[in-house]
Amino acid sequence: MIFKTKPADVFKERHNGPDKEQMQDMLGTIGVNSLDQLIDETVPAAIRLKKPLNLPAALTEKDFLNKFSQIAKQNKVYKSYIGLGYNDTIVPPVILRNIMENPGWYTAYTPYQAEIAQGRLEALINYQTMVMDLTGMEIANASLLDEGTAAAEAMGMFFAQRKGARKNATRFFVSDLVLPQTIDVLASRATPIGIELVIGDHQEADLNDESLFGALLQYPAANGAVYDYTDFISRAHGQDILVAVAADILSLTLLTPPGEMGADAVVGTTQRFGVPMGFGGPHAGYFATKDAFKRVIPGRIIGLSVDAEGNRAYRMALQTREQHIRREKATSNICTAQVLLAVMSGMYAVYHGPRRLKYIGLNVHALTQQLDKGLKALGFEQQNQHYFDTLNIVLGSADMQEAIRKEAEATGINFLYNGDTKIGISLNQNTDLQDIKAVLAVFAKVAGKSADVLTIDTLPEETDITWADSLIRKSEYLQQEVFNKHHSEHEMLRYMKHLENKDISLVHSMIPLGSCTMKLNATSEMIPVTWPEIGQLHPFAPSDQTKGYEQIFSDLEAWLCEITRFDAVSLQPNSGAQGEYAGLMVIRAYHESRGDHHRNIALIPSSAHGTNPASAVMAGMKVVIVKCDEKGNIDVADLRAKAEQYKNELSCLMVTYPSTHGVYEESIIEVCQVIHDNGGRVYMDGANMNAQVGLTSPAHIGADVCHLNLHKTFCIPHGGGGPGMGPIGVVKDLAPFLPGHAVRKINGEKAIHAVSAAPWGSASILPISYAYIAMMGGEGLTEATKVAILNANYIKARLEQHYPVLYVGKNGRCAHEMILDCREFKKVGIEVEDIAKRLMDYGFHAPTVSFPVAGTLMVEPTESEPKEELDRFCNVMISIREEIREIESGKADQKNNVLKNAPHTAKVVMVENWERPYSREKAVFPMAFLRDNKVWPTVSRIDSAYGDRNLVCSCAPIEAYSENGNEMVAIG
Ligand SMILES: *Cc1c(COP(=O)(O)O)cnc(C)c1O
Repeated sequence: MIFKTKPADVFKERHNGPDKEQMQDMLGTIGVNSLDQLIDETVPAAIRLKKPLNLPAALTEKDFLNKFSQIAKQNKVYKSYIGLGYNDTIVPPVILRNIMENPGWYTAYTPYQAEIAQGRLEALINYQTMVMDLTGMEIANASLLDEGTAAAEAMGMFFAQRKGARKNATRFFVSDLVLPQTIDVLASRATPIGIELVIGDHQEADLNDESLFGALLQYPAANGAVYDYTDFISRAHGQDILVAVAADILSLTLLTPPGEMGADAVVGTTQRFGVPMGFGGPHAGYFATKDAFKRVIPGRIIGLSVDAEGNRAYRMALQTREQHIRREKATSNICTAQVLLAVMSGMYAVYHGPRRLKYIGLNVHALTQQLDKGLKALGFEQQNQHYFDTLNIVLGSADMQEAIRKEAEATGINFLYNGDTKIGISLNQNTDLQDIKAVLAVFAKVAGKSADVLTIDTLPEETDITWADSLIRKSEYLQQEVFNKHHSEHEMLRYMKHLENKDISLVHSMIPLGSCTMKLNATSEMIPVTWPEIGQLHPFAPSDQTKGYEQIFSDLEAWLCEITRFDAVSLQPNSGAQGEYAGLMVIRAYHESRGDHHRNIALIPSSAHGTNPASAVMAGMKVVIVKCDEKGNIDVADLRAKAEQYKNELSCLMVTYPSTHGVYEESIIEVCQVIHDNGGRVYMDGANMNAQVGLTSPAHIGADVCHLNLHKTFCIPHGGGGPGMGPIGVVKDLAPFLPGHAVRKINGEKAIHAVSAAPWGSASILPISYAYIAMMGGEGLTEATKVAILNANYIKARLEQHYPVLYVGKNGRCAHEMILDCREFKKVGIEVEDIAKRLMDYGFHAPTVSFPVAGTLMVEPTESEPKEELDRFCNVMISIREEIREIESGKADQKNNVLKNAPHTAKVVMVENWERPYSREKAVFPMAFLRDNKVWPTVSRIDSAYGDRNLVCSCAPIEAYSENGNEMVAIG
């Protein structure tokens, strides 16, 4: 007998949800004969690519992992004592496996739907509390992208809040001992908004200079020296100058926190709290400040509130500040941050508690003292009189430095080589006495001396901290219960699982979020992230140790160029919004290079995502809004009129494609042409790239720059609100302006300043996107785009009799997402929010609510959902529609119904006397499948306004709750 053979395991068949048969079914429902017919009816012929993607042949999962491990092995994992804000750390294995490597945590979405996000919200409030306590500040946010951008946000916040005598001041003092990459990011962010940096010695700064409005200091300083900034800060305050301090989080276990010195903001990174260096990221940047600034803090803040039953419940506080509401009035464009990494660092503090954290700090400091002693015994000069973990060694000559570098690298050790004759050594949690001896052996060998200068085998039992008494931390920290409870591994494991179980993530059901593309994050894509060759590299390690990364970057850049048809890619921006900012700064630099300094108008359609206008303002541009017509398309006449009106000042257009309304606008080529004809460039927001890959491309359509949200289109998981990556692609004449970096030279003369702290942003998650492209191949990627369009149109076909679909293309098709109009239901008192909350009772996360149109839901299924899941979602949406019809027909009450009271917790339905006008069964098991597969929301509808009026953003003291832990008493 002859049997036909075929490969048994092709990745694209795992990534794409529906199989051939299901697809045929779905096409029937939509009313087309073939997938190609659907695509032809959906994507305008004028923008279709003529050639298929030219990418390497798709690999199986097994072959990919084999091949990739060979690439990763070209990275050499040395002991890195380079410091500069990146330090080796020990990720507690219980956190590594149960959070970092756990899809229950990493596939969650940003916690907009708070009732099914209580777990990560609690984890984030722990993180905020940790940051507040350690820095000595009154309020902290739930993470920023990195230390450099956190410092820039502080500068921006101070600038917006200038006061008193310095109301109109425009200069910002930066200590020359601030980390070099932070200064680079500050330089990028200062100029466009009219700030001038003054870089100098903080001991000689002239604070009487009336042009200064703020200052930034580093603690301990970049060279490791510890200074008391109390006097500087009080003198600054006397002049109405606001002061930010960038502080090392571990040092604050021993050092007086900047908050106690009077700092107005404290920023930094929590990387060394249990997050691998990852060749630069991702890790959580932190931002803490005074209560007085609580309404102007960048990023997201998690706060406490109450639910409908008066139970304590968390949610994102002060949502009105989000840029999607403030738009061009926003002073920050932060959207995706670093939630997963903030969760990890917060858990690191939960696991270790204040006592062990202090021991970690003390051990690092004690080892540094021993090293200092040993180096002195060998005759070396160390310049830091007071230090925490960093020594600053001055050598006699550059030759000596070179000899030490050679010897160190031969033994697998990296130091910081500063100037010609200095060496910096920063120790970390992973350093032990053996490591110190190995370091001393390097110096001894070069000095021609015996290495036997440290005769001890264990650290002394006591450590004498010799810095000034005023700098020795006396205040307590992390006294809240959560940091003093979960110290055995079992307790820790159960605490994390307890939180995880409160949340809905992709492990439960599809998350149909329009614009955010919650597709499969395949396990094979995730596996390399925690390999030591990927995770344990210092971003400033010498390039001969990072050949693996070099190949990853160059392959990925080439592939992204092929996909976008651009000429060059920068992998530096570490979120979509950062990509926007970077791209606009590139356009700005381009215009300036041609003497067009006055080109500063950004045209932005009214339907744009809020980050677009916010980024434009940060890049120093003036936003002019372009109208959309009643079909949701850009009003081309209005665009043309405005482009011509501003033709001498036009910098660029920012446009999302397909539009945020889920339509491939036919006019896009003309739109780009109009902008080019008037001297502007076209910035494309690539959030909807999942509807382009393989079918069309930004460059093909006419864009000059575009960011790619790798955490949307290219499979990096959302992490509950980060990490992400937002690389930008550009056409040839813009390539020279792509971001550079102060420490690692990555671009030429014309490069703009760094937009992220690390040269390649969050480098260690790039393997995820690499894996996706390598395993899908050009054909698989193109098929994914087609299936994404198929899935969306299938949902549309199934739901449009129940919910009107706003905006479709000329053949009545939607792109990869669609907007369901829910505004009709207001007549019977049902808001779109009620539908979002009712979906929780059915075990689903809501689609995007009220973006880009208020009162609507935007649904994006992605290609990864199989037909069964799409059907389950559609059936649920139809069931909810029936529940609304019951209200419409008068069968159900307008105020007291399953939607208004959603979500229903177990506690709510288990009451003795059920008094609602519907059954308990209808409340929690409205469909049969739920009896077998129920996700129980742990709180009922949360009162956000209450929480905003009574802002509490840290682990509340236990006394804040009454006996039964239920009733919330007045706090704050
Ligand atoms: C997600 C998104 C952004 C912002 O990207 P982040 O990675 O969250 O910063 C910008 N524009 C659109 C249309 C988006 O959907």
